[in-house]
Amino acid sequence: MRLAVITLFPEIFQAYMGAGIMRRAVEKAVVSFDVLHLRDFTADRHRTVDDYPYGGGPGMVMKPGPVHEAVRHAKKDGLPTLTILLSPQGRPFTQQMAKELSQEKRRLLFICGRYEGIDERVRQSLVDEEISIGDYVLTGGELPALVIIDAVVRQLPGALGDEDSLKEESFSWGILDYPQYTRPPEWNGMAVPEVLLSGNHRRIALWRRKEALRRTLRKRPDLLRLAGLTPEDYELIREIKEEDYESDK
Ligand code: SAM
Repeated sequence: MRLAVITLFPEIFQAYMGAGIMRRAVEKAVVSFDVLHLRDFTADRHRTVDDYPYGGGPGMVMKPGPVHEAVRHAKKDGLPTLTILLSPQGRPFTQQMAKELSQEKRRLLFICGRYEGIDERVRQSLVDEEISIGDYVLTGGELPALVIIDAVVRQLPGALGDEDSLKEESFSWGILDYPQYTRPPEWNGMAVPEVLLSGNHRRIALWRRKEALRRTLRKRPDLLRLAGLTPEDYELIREIKEEDYESDK
């Protein structure tokens, strides 16, 4: 998969993409990653990328010209490209979107805003998708771009050491992940559940499914509605509710 970003802070991407699974994905050519520095696409001596907002008001607005030039440069090889603007006003990002984007054949080109945002005409003329990572406002689009890139890249074949990790993690299977434990078997007076030491894979799978359902019921019951639960899941939920009822008595 091909990824590219347009940013005023290339060093942020170098740091994150140069570590851990992202670095390995680049080294293994699972992804290619280009960073375009917006100031390289300015036309004046001061490399100006922003200006005062028309109509007054606080802050500065990113000028359309440099962004247009950077997008043109990114696309000059003629490859199909999906241009994504990071914006708190965009479609809220989800695991499902990460999965869909990971199957994109087009290059993903991310435009990172700063200041009060980007001149509206960029959104109107250059952008295919506007994505938000949540209902809060950050100072720039770099963290949102990296959040999306991380979630997308780990879906790509060859990116993770063990692709089975993707199958049962939170959201991928519709509900939250089950509790995880590692050595030692007892720590600070707390023991690892016996079933996990039993070596009985069927019991372990059943316990994990039940604990995942228990967590989802407690923390994110809204997820259960769309989780595609099986009759066995409903039976486990009935058991969990009975257990909770007994422990509340
Ligand atoms: N004035 C804008 C507004 O109220 O919608 C906010 C601008 S914000 C300070 C600067 C840039 O950060 C935005 O252009 C966008 O690229 C990025 N940004 C901030 N919060 C974001 C979020 N929740 N999701 C995606 N991008 C975000």
